[in-house]
Amino acid sequence: MESIDALSEKLSDYLDSGQIEQVNKAFEFASEAHSGQFRTSGDPYVSHPIAVASILSSYHMDEDSLSAAMLHDVIEDCGVPKSVIEKEFNKNVANLVDGVSKLDQLKISSKTEAHAENFQKMILAMAKDIRVIVVKLADRLHNMRTIEYLDKEKQKLKARETLEIYAPIAHRIGMNTVYRELEDRSFKVLYPTRYRRLRVATKKSRGSQKRLLKKIKRTLEKKLVDQGIPAYVEGREKHTYSIYKKMKESRRAFDEIMDVVAFKVIVDSPDNCYKTLGVIHSIFKPIEGRFKDFISIPKSNGYQSIHTGVVGLDGQPIEFQIKTEEMNEMAENGIASHWIYKMGEGTESNPQQKARRWVADLLEMRDNLESSEEFIESVKTDIFPDEIYVFTPEGEIIQLVAGSTAIDFAYSVHTDIGHHCRACRINRKLAPLSVPLESGQTVEILRDKIPQTSPAWLNFAVSSRARNSIRTYLSNLKISEARKLGKKLLDQSLGHQNVKLRHLKKDELKEALDALGVKSLNSLLEEIGLGKRVGNVVARQMISFLDKEGEEKSSNNLSLEITGTEGLVVNYATCCKPIPGDSVIGHFTTNGLVVHQERCKNILSIREDPSQCFPVNWHEELQREFSTDVKILASDEPGLLATMAAAITNASTNIESIHTQELDQGHIEFILTLQVKGRDQLAILIRKLRKLKNILSVQRIHDQEMREAQTLH
Ligand code: MN
Repeated sequence: MESIDALSEKLSDYLDSGQIEQVNKAFEFASEAHSGQFRTSGDPYVSHPIAVASILSSYHMDEDSLSAAMLHDVIEDCGVPKSVIEKEFNKNVANLVDGVSKLDQLKISSKTEAHAENFQKMILAMAKDIRVIVVKLADRLHNMRTIEYLDKEKQKLKARETLEIYAPIAHRIGMNTVYRELEDRSFKVLYPTRYRRLRVATKKSRGSQKRLLKKIKRTLEKKLVDQGIPAYVEGREKHTYSIYKKMKESRRAFDEIMDVVAFKVIVDSPDNCYKTLGVIHSIFKPIEGRFKDFISIPKSNGYQSIHTGVVGLDGQPIEFQIKTEEMNEMAENGIASHWIYKMGEGTESNPQQKARRWVADLLEMRDNLESSEEFIESVKTDIFPDEIYVFTPEGEIIQLVAGSTAIDFAYSVHTDIGHHCRACRINRKLAPLSVPLESGQTVEILRDKIPQTSPAWLNFAVSSRARNSIRTYLSNLKISEARKLGKKLLDQSLGHQNVKLRHLKKDELKEALDALGVKSLNSLLEEIGLGKRVGNVVARQMISFLDKEGEEKSSNNLSLEITGTEGLVVNYATCCKPIPGDSVIGHFTTNGLVVHQERCKNILSIREDPSQCFPVNWHEELQREFSTDVKILASDEPGLLATMAAAITNASTNIESIHTQELDQGHIEFILTLQVKGRDQLAILIRKLRKLKNILSVQRIHDQEMREAQTLH
């Protein structure tokens, strides 16, 4: 068991004493919380968090990650609340520990390859901070290193989960040393006999190749020195599981695969990589089709290298990988390589900025390539997905667009489940249908025998599938059914105001109907039932007409933009700046009706109170333009603003204002206020901007917090 003193000693290489102190404090806290708990190995429990922190220290991870590593099991295993961690340490540490704990609560079981991939995406989506993933991988690595103490069944379970979910995640973010170790350890648990046989065979074959390897190495090194290329050459060993996979996939025998000897050549510059390739090809005969240039076309996780296959002096095939030191570092540790190399620059203490830098580096590599757009998109969506992933009660994973609610979930499972949806449980607790879902939640839909489809759903259903199904259903309602539904909704709304429809006098009713611009009560009820008007608004309007009979109606022309608000004063909330196409909700204030986005945080607490808030709809075909804010992160290059502005104007969009802020060396943030007709236009524009060179991310701002915060998402 590693001691905290030994760890502190390691940390003193790259952290200052204040930072080390925080890690020590986290250790003390964890020792206290886990006191009396033991690992199955018999070691005190706290040996595990120390080991995890120690793994992270080899990547030079920051003090918050290390503290989180120390504390990663205290929420789950000791019931320490997140707020306590925040108070004792800081918000960062609390969020990291919370993030890792949430991943621990996931019940991972993958039935198919696609299912496993969805799990990987869900985990990435849940970890809003990439450090959560790195801490989780270190945690899993240590658990795999000590897996022999678990019972056989648990071992297999953990190993399968590691092989199918965590090893691929490590691979995805380029942490290949971790990836290989996770794979080999899982393989050993799942197929012990095959693992042992392969290990023995590998050892034997490597022993017999020793002299050959030495000879090749010496020949090449001498030639490189002659050419003035500083380099070192080392034999490269495939990890056991990759040999196994290769045998399985290519149906080749072990000898055939092991027959190939492999080398890694590390040089000082990309230029010398290509020169080295020339040298190798001048000594050995290249095999056709084996040359691959991953320097100009890196793999999607950022891997860069030149590969070639040649025939050796004795006729045996040889593989070479040629790369620079930095490429090698990136190939071994991926996203984590940034903690190792970029520390000490001072400006990049924010891990999100580090992750962004990693993506930016990937972009730089692809700068001159035509297919770069696709590549960038794949990298961005891989690491920071826009989707959310939730479970059905049966454990299936459903992918939804961010902002989706239980209604979207219900319709995406089946249209019938959507129509019959009466209520929902989120993580086994009853919850309102309109609450946006989060990745990792389990959603259960409670159904009624009779369809429950309501026009009000249109205000929180965000997926086109749900919205279309609801609209189609409503437009197919028989007139009599629409009236019945409309009456029910209007009665309910009037009831909130202590008014009963049947208590209205005939001339009062007629006056109200006239003011609303409808011919009869029946047609009003139909319109409500079909979702063209909102019961709650109609009720308000009727009451306000009754209250100020004969008075001049106060209204502004904005009421024409929101259906059924004729006669009301309408304003648009400046916090969330709704635009046509957004799901919107109306909120009654002393100044009239304020229209917010349905997702707006400012109305979260009152959203479920029908006397204050109710869903509203946009009129179709509005011609006016609306202001909306967009945040853009970019690498600062000359001419960037001009290119951006040109792209926006070409999309017939006006720029109202631009604010810029220098973030750190080479990065810049823009807040643009744009004028758009609606969501469709904005979506097209955002897609266009994302494709521009040097632009790292583009997103719409939905609230004040986002307007101020500098975050990657
Ligand atoms: Mn753990």
